[in-house]
Amino acid sequence: MKYISTRGNAPELNFADAMLTGLARDGGLYVPKKIPTMSKEDIAALAGLSYEEVAFRVMRPFVGDAFTDEEFRGIIERAYANFRHPARAPLVQLAPNHFLLELFHGPTIAFKDFAMQLIGQLFQFELGRRGEHVTIVGATSGDTGSAAIEAFRGLKNVDVFILFPDGRVSDIQRKQMTTPDDANVHALAVEGDFDDCQAALKDMFNDLKFRDCVKLAGVNSINWARVLAQVVYYFSSAVSLGAPHREISFTVPTGNFGDIFAGYIAKQMGLPIADLVIATNQNDILHRTMETAAYTKEGVMPSISPSMDIQVSSNFERALFYAYDQDGDAVSQLMDELKDGSFAISQGAMEALRENFLSGRASEKETLASIAAEYAANGEVLCPHSAVGVKVANEHLSTVPMVTLATAHPAKFPDAVEQAMGQRPDLPPHMVDMMGDEERVTKVPNNLGLLQALIKDRIAQR
Ligand SMILES: *Cc1c(COP(=O)(O)O)cnc(C)c1O
Repeated sequence: MKYISTRGNAPELNFADAMLTGLARDGGLYVPKKIPTMSKEDIAALAGLSYEEVAFRVMRPFVGDAFTDEEFRGIIERAYANFRHPARAPLVQLAPNHFLLELFHGPTIAFKDFAMQLIGQLFQFELGRRGEHVTIVGATSGDTGSAAIEAFRGLKNVDVFILFPDGRVSDIQRKQMTTPDDANVHALAVEGDFDDCQAALKDMFNDLKFRDCVKLAGVNSINWARVLAQVVYYFSSAVSLGAPHREISFTVPTGNFGDIFAGYIAKQMGLPIADLVIATNQNDILHRTMETAAYTKEGVMPSISPSMDIQVSSNFERALFYAYDQDGDAVSQLMDELKDGSFAISQGAMEALRENFLSGRASEKETLASIAAEYAANGEVLCPHSAVGVKVANEHLSTVPMVTLATAHPAKFPDAVEQAMGQRPDLPPHMVDMMGDEERVTKVPNNLGLLQALIKDRIAQR
């Protein structure tokens, strides 16, 4: 199995190298050269299997000869061993034909654990085999950083540094990053905002001397292995609702387009998905694009669903690549145009996108109303991101069962939940324990040279 860049101008890599590389050298994103398919019989045979076994069968063809069956099974077992629900991704019913896929039973109670826990084990295995050590540096506004720290803590071949804006993440998000006491975990509170953190990270990747010296690696959402991990729960949920013998639709709260793109891959593999609905908050660039065929950047408006507050949706590039019949030059040109703030999508590509995706948006008021309405109707407490999804899904209900992805536990966003329903959500028990633990964090000025020196120094000490 080979991977190619969406901009058509980077070396083809196997699965392990695509995973360790992250971003392609031409600035593009890696995608499989050919998407493997599963027959109706293959899909039907997933019924009743454990999540781990479904994960093995769905992901196996993408991995090629990078791992043996036995190695890959072990990696998957370890990745999901500390999830707190035996089904890993359970479904609950909201209404006669509407289901919620709970993706928040992992260690940091947001769906990013599904991909990050797998990536942690994949990195550990592959680096152990190569006898290499890498330094992972990530910038976060909250969820990605905690998921990365949980995934990489205690692993021998990895040091993980997370830059977060000092004073601008929630209490619970900060504690998730600062209470792990493993020596390879480094939480850095940067005196600045999230954009400063991201700019520092970018500068580190562009400083080739530093990049090579510390063996810098990235695990942000453009990493192909993260998308792949998310394909699995489309299969597990659809099969438990009757696929492949009937069609299923999905609505996905969307920011960087990674989660919903995984649904597109599932569909290309043969899963009978009727509708894939993009749900955005007031930062609705994707919804506007679907309506107008123009992708136009506007300023980010901070919302109560902060993990979807984006201006540039990185993984949308992968959807464009397929909409443009895998024409890397065309994608490359669009991305150049985006430097000036916008690009227009051709009629043919737009038809291809509309064949695969529907869209909707929820305002702040509608998000709060959605939390209150679901709580009143069936006692289900939604996080604000999931509430955006449910609001948009309700506009697309039909005779086909609809599954809305619940991307975080409500306790991760207690203020929004309280605002909506007058009551704070309960923390899961393991989170209550963590809240009293000692915090370990280093405050750093927003200065590239100082940050780089600190990272080199910490690695030298280990
Ligand atoms: C990251 C995140 C999203 C958005 O997912 P994308 O893959 O970026 O579209 C939605 N909800 C929550 C809670 C998240 O953490």
